[in-house]
Amino acid sequence: MGKTVVVGGGIIGAALAYELQKRGRNVALVDPEMPGSGASYGNMASIAVTEFMPVARPSVWRQLPGWLLHPEGPITVRPGYLPRLLPWFARFLAASRPSRVRALEMAGAALCQRSLTDMRVLLGEIGLGDHVSDTGCLSLYANDTEFRADAERIDMLDRYGFGYQVLGRAEIEDLEPSIDALITKAVLLPDNRTVRDPFAIVTRLVERFTGAGGTVENAKVTGFERSDRISGVRFESGAVLDADEVVLCAGAFTGRLSKLLSEPMPLETERGYHTQIMDPGLELKHSIIWPAKAFMVSPTAGGIRIGGTVEMAGLDAAPNYQRAKITLTRARTALPDLKVQETSEWMGHRPAFPDTIPLMSASAKTPGVFYATGHGHLGLTYAATNAALMADLITGAKPVLDMSPYCITRF
Ligand SMILES: Cc1cc2nc3c(=O)[nH]c(=O)nc-3n(C[C@H](O)[C@H](O)[C@H](O)COP(=O)(O)OP(=O)(O)OC[C@H]3O[C@@H](n4cnc5c(N)ncnc54)[C@H](O)[C@@H]3O)c2cc1C
Repeated sequence: MGKTVVVGGGIIGAALAYELQKRGRNVALVDPEMPGSGASYGNMASIAVTEFMPVARPSVWRQLPGWLLHPEGPITVRPGYLPRLLPWFARFLAASRPSRVRALEMAGAALCQRSLTDMRVLLGEIGLGDHVSDTGCLSLYANDTEFRADAERIDMLDRYGFGYQVLGRAEIEDLEPSIDALITKAVLLPDNRTVRDPFAIVTRLVERFTGAGGTVENAKVTGFERSDRISGVRFESGAVLDADEVVLCAGAFTGRLSKLLSEPMPLETERGYHTQIMDPGLELKHSIIWPAKAFMVSPTAGGIRIGGTVEMAGLDAAPNYQRAKITLTRARTALPDLKVQETSEWMGHRPAFPDTIPLMSASAKTPGVFYATGHGHLGLTYAATNAALMADLITGAKPVLDMSPYCITRF
């Protein structure tokens, strides 16, 4: 039997390796780090099915200069990194054309309409069926101005048939008494669920994958063997692992690998931070987002997790944990009883294309090479759906969705 090598053991690579193994392939998963220790470790644990609105859109474009100049804005760029970011920004602006925005929105919605069901099936298979919360997410607004500013998102939910419910102060208090009285309105997003621990999902996937005969190589891929098609991956040690197919799922690092295959891609890292509070002194049943303040709070296995915002500074710059502290301060405005004790801070690299849509595609240059990356803010959300669609592409089955919006030829 031919061998499929999956490069990168985050949630995307681990779920795909598991799926391919299940379909009878001989699969090796390669990662120099512990699988799940990248972006998939500390994300906000949200199956965020309503959050597919493309970031690149005219309304964001108008606000962007103000945000970028504000050191505490929802998006910040490290000044030294700006020149390297300009080509990505040019593509970001091009993706904001109204006609393009609608197509991108449809591509995101098509994935989100399947993602909660697909994730539930996957978690059920690996014995983590009880890992998904029963309650949804509350989107918070201090006043009508904030609510109206979010109308674009609410319209989009209507357009794609996602359920929601507008709540007043009394209903908010019934659902989550810890939310401060300054929040006068909320939208309940019942299908935006959270998982208890995103890292535990990767760990379990890898356990099930190896239990079914899959292998894990603790190595960094630094090159490829190919002639008219791919024939192997080369490790930093110089060793070669033979492969009939190679799937690049190295998250934000995938662009470095695709370059080695003469197939550059406009992949950036949108760096994000979290603060985990092990003993928060309050309990939340729902996750919370406050769009005007650009943060999220999720109940997780180890207490409460607070995160959000984007920092553009590339793959190599040291973390700036001030970003996590800013988000924490904002969260305390909504949750004044929050006790900030027993905390840890974390930074991760969201793999992001300028048009917000993931890449789930065969290579256009090297037969036998596939890409699954760029899932941005929704890598956990998309993971099970991505695994099913990519496994179809790789095994020659017909995917349930039209895959053209996610193809590499769009760059
Ligand atoms: C703060 C924050 C909050 C988020 N919240 C959410 C959320 O609530 N919901 C959601 O759906 N998504 C969320 N995301 C996004 C989500 O975490 C990512 O989209 C997802 O984890 C990406 O998974 P991945 O497997 O592509 O990448 P990663 O998890 O980063 O995994 C990539 C792996 O590739 C390996 N690798 C790199 N280079 C090589 C190489 N040369 N050879 C071999 N292996 C290599 C790395 O070691 C790593 O293990 C959030 C992200 C952040 C940062």
